[in-house]
Amino acid sequence: DGRIVAMDEQRADDWQYSLRPRKLSEYIGQDKAKKNLDIFIKAAMNRGDALDHVLLYGPPGLGKTTLAGIIANEMGVNFRQTSGPAIERQGDLAALLTNLQEHDVLFIDEIHRLSRSVEEVLYSAMEDFALDIIIGKGPSARSIRLDIAPFTLIGATTKAGSLAAPLRDRFGIISRLEYYTPEALVNIIKRAAEILEIPIEDRGALEIARRSRGTPRIANRLLKRVRDVAQYEGQDVITDALADKALSLLEVDKAGLDHTDRRMLSTMIKKFGGGPVGLDTLAAAISESTDTIEDVYEPFLIQLGFVNRTPRGRVVTRAGYEHMGIAYPE
Ligand code: ADP
Repeated sequence: DGRIVAMDEQRADDWQYSLRPRKLSEYIGQDKAKKNLDIFIKAAMNRGDALDHVLLYGPPGLGKTTLAGIIANEMGVNFRQTSGPAIERQGDLAALLTNLQEHDVLFIDEIHRLSRSVEEVLYSAMEDFALDIIIGKGPSARSIRLDIAPFTLIGATTKAGSLAAPLRDRFGIISRLEYYTPEALVNIIKRAAEILEIPIEDRGALEIARRSRGTPRIANRLLKRVRDVAQYEGQDVITDALADKALSLLEVDKAGLDHTDRRMLSTMIKKFGGGPVGLDTLAAAISESTDTIEDVYEPFLIQLGFVNRTPRGRVVTRAGYEHMGIAYPE
């Protein structure tokens, strides 16, 4: 979807690649994942081995691709990037794997979307650095084993739960990325502003950070839009007042909710007494698909504590009512 607070990458986000940090020390936040990776990278390099396979999971826009690129850079190896849906046949994967050099990183985004047959080829590649390929058909078919260079697979997924157990078990390092704190986002925004040469006050950065849903991709996007408003208004520096004005104009409220989030909350409150309301009923009431509600709108509202999932349906919490400025029915 084209929402300014969408977590998914959109074509118009390409400019953000230039903001990607290249070193672990420049990667802001995610201290736990960073510390672990730092230890494992140094150990692998000391041994002269490829790094163990790494699984990164967490919501979109939190920096999984960025981190994978950093790992390759820190290891001093090539970075090859693809995605689950892009690898259609076993041969596609075989071509990728046989082109890898010693210790290279192969990054597979959305790894939970690999087909079963491709996944099976991946097992022996990850475990034995070998490919078992069937040549020919029928009675004359035979299997040959092809060695490939020891490499590191970095898989990224938004849903660790939907990964098949045999695949998950083959990752030596599993790291979950967390939503960023406002403080970490302030640093990300200030760093981006410096690269883009946008003068910004600390309090301006904080105003943007608070509304960025804990997500660097959204923070960068909001920064750029606020800059547009600053230029339009003839202001040279982004202050908190300007950021507030610009974000209100863009209909991103104090908690980072946009028009659609608020519409969902207000429908739940006004039409269904705050719930419990079933997913199908809610979907019909706001003309969205149940999938979109479950995957796109709801997770952030739950994360904020504005909505709860109960066995009888979704309910708006007291905090949700308060945010909407409506009295909570006692
Ligand atoms: P994902 O792969 O998880 O969807 P990306 O790695 O594409 O997310 O991150 C989105 C953008 O956010 C990147 O282009 C980068 O500019 C920025 N970014 C992400 N994480 C960080 C971080 N820790 N520090 C600075 N910038 C970051």
